[in-house]
Amino acid sequence: MAADKDTLFDVAVVGGGPAGATAATDLARRGHTVAVLDRAGRIKPCGGAIPPKLVRDFDVPDELIVARVGGARIVSPSNRSVDMPIDGGFVGMVDRDVFDEWLRKRAVEAGAARREGAFERLDHEADGTATVHYRPRAAAKDAEPARLRARAVIGADGAMSRVARQCVPGAEETPHVFAYHEIVRSPQGSGGAYDPTRCDVYYDGALSPDFYAWIFPHGDTASVGTGSMQKGFGLRGAVGALRAISGLDGVETIRREGAPIPLHPLKRWDDGRNVVLAGDAAGVVAPASGEGIYYAMLGGRMAADAATEFLGTADARALAGARKRFMRLHGPVFWMLGAMQRHWYRDDARRERFVSICRDVDVQQLTWDAYMNKELVKARPLAHARIFFKNIAHLTGLVSPWRGVAPPPPSAVLAQGRAA
Ligand SMILES: Cc1cc2nc3c(=O)[nH]c(=O)nc-3n(C[C@H](O)[C@H](O)[C@H](O)COP(=O)(O)OP(=O)(O)OC[C@H]3O[C@@H](n4cnc5c(N)ncnc54)[C@H](O)[C@@H]3O)c2cc1C
Repeated sequence: MAADKDTLFDVAVVGGGPAGATAATDLARRGHTVAVLDRAGRIKPCGGAIPPKLVRDFDVPDELIVARVGGARIVSPSNRSVDMPIDGGFVGMVDRDVFDEWLRKRAVEAGAARREGAFERLDHEADGTATVHYRPRAAAKDAEPARLRARAVIGADGAMSRVARQCVPGAEETPHVFAYHEIVRSPQGSGGAYDPTRCDVYYDGALSPDFYAWIFPHGDTASVGTGSMQKGFGLRGAVGALRAISGLDGVETIRREGAPIPLHPLKRWDDGRNVVLAGDAAGVVAPASGEGIYYAMLGGRMAADAATEFLGTADARALAGARKRFMRLHGPVFWMLGAMQRHWYRDDARRERFVSICRDVDVQQLTWDAYMNKELVKARPLAHARIFFKNIAHLTGLVSPWRGVAPPPPSAVLAQGRAA
């Protein structure tokens, strides 16, 4: 550690989550000297759902996947549900304590130096390098901050990133969903409403006025959670209600935790000098779904590519390439998901229609294709056209959402929540 004072790293990565650990691994494998700083000691609150493309593209070993989910059940405000089986794929579930630590160890095996401590501030030096000041994890409260000097810095310290707030103008204005979940012991045996091979997703204003609530199975445990942008919304009460209606109120609670999810990619991911952001720090989470792990790892990879180009050319414009490349690939999907969230998550009448639309096999196929492959599927123009016209029919109210489907008994628990 003492030698850090005298070492000039090629890159200092702040944050060793999926974005930072991926960036550090890629950089170290290319032969760059890299240090990855993580404050450590806290498990990232997360549903832990990942697509097979992440497993393939980032060489994630099978043993990290604690459950493979074969489909989703989505539930409307009137308690009608639609099952959406996955044809030829799966949603993988990872436990973030194990997953993140494995990613950090992979970075170290690739040659990265690992440091534990909390980032405090970054100074730009006259010679164009940066100094990262941090408080080492084990240090006494009044101890001097430690330092890392580097030619470039990747800010991957998650939502509300301190690096972003210090270095990139406008970062503090990013809107967030606040998400909360409870990790519970999975019920033993069959017969209840809980299915360990299925994700349950609730679109219901009583459980979330502007996002959704979920039950994600993780083998021995499950994540039961919800999120909202509304400051006064009672996330804990909503999760309690969800546990009650899904038969998970009696099982052991292992952890209760929450964290913000950013809603929009920042307009800039670099500071025009030597800092570039990745993952949640850059605001990169898919709207409507809140999916961020895949995009964080891809963002980390793109930040590493941009840093390599910057180190080779000393041209700070190379750092802007990370955002350009990312948005070229995923900007249209983010735009479409944002529009979907703004339209369909607005009130229960729209949520009702949204869930009913998901009965459509074309919608199901395209939803899973897009999730699995992370691109808008161009291969099936007829299906797109059919969905377009069905959407128009729903948007204009020409069709009633559940024509011919009798309503099930409403949930008494949620009726109480709505009345309150
Ligand atoms: C409740 C909830 C459920 C979610 N469910 C899903 C899901 O099912 N699937 C999905 O794809 N996404 C999900 N997300 C989003 C996903 O968790 C994030 O998008 C993803 O973790 C982003 O990765 P990251 O590396 O950018 O940031 P993070 O995972 O937040 O990692 C940041 C790292 O930086 C470190 N750090 C932070 N501050 C400092 C500091 N000052 N100094 C040093 N180190 C620091 C942290 O210790 C952490 O290791 C969920 C989010 C929440 C809150």
